[in-house]
Amino acid sequence: MSTQAPERHEFQAEVKQVLDIVVHSLYTDKEIFVRELVSNASDATEKLRHTQLTEKEIFDADLDLEIQVTADEESGEVTIRDFGIGMTHDELIENLGTIAHSGSKAFLNALKESGEKNENLIGQFGVGFYSVFMVAEKVDVYTRSWHKDGECLRWSSDGSGAYEIDTVEGERRGTRIVIKLKEEYKEFAKKDRIEAIIKKYSAFVQFPVKVEGEEL
Ligand code: ADP
Ligand code: MG
Repeated sequence: MSTQAPERHEFQAEVKQVLDIVVHSLYTDKEIFVRELVSNASDATEKLRHTQLTEKEIFDADLDLEIQVTADEESGEVTIRDFGIGMTHDELIENLGTIAHSGSKAFLNALKESGEKNENLIGQFGVGFYSVFMVAEKVDVYTRSWHKDGECLRWSSDGSGAYEIDTVEGERRGTRIVIKLKEEYKEFAKKDRIEAIIKKYSAFVQFPVKVEGEEL
């Protein structure tokens, strides 16, 4: 439940460009979105582990450092959750609304060099988080930073130009990404399918990955 009206933000122009290509991509393996989100979950958990070495005041300090994936075929929803570092309001804007980070920046540079709308580059460079919009109708990112006085936030977008941020309640530390799949990609909400994708791409993740509570 929101405690105030959502705040609306436009994606940075470069992000819109990336999203436009990602959303309309025909030749990229759609399943790589799972790899990207699990890899982000793992990075965030690793960062938390590092933060724990130097900071005493960590919110929800005793959570298990694992990655949890759930899928509901009927509603066509997949959730990827970590108990990592989480994001503050400003980090949400910087990390999920601009192109400041590695993968998608390289993609955009390569795109400029190739001089055309070359979607094959998505597979080559990876566009990180934004790859989720190949399959998602809507994405909700619930997050709670490790800072003691942090707030529970929801970032929400359909990948078309803008996103919203509002405050929510009751989140544990870390990030929970709820993906509402487009009708034609509901196969990704099958437990067997998602398990197979994780085994294929994420075998070396350093934290336990559980699908529907079962460790892979
Ligand atoms: P990259 O992983 O190459 O930096 P991404 O597009 O995959 O690029 O992610 C962008 C940024 O968003 C990350 O660098 C990170 O700061 C932030 N982020 C994404 N997912 C998470 C998450 N689960 N927890 C915390 N931060 C995240
Ligand atoms: Mg990433």
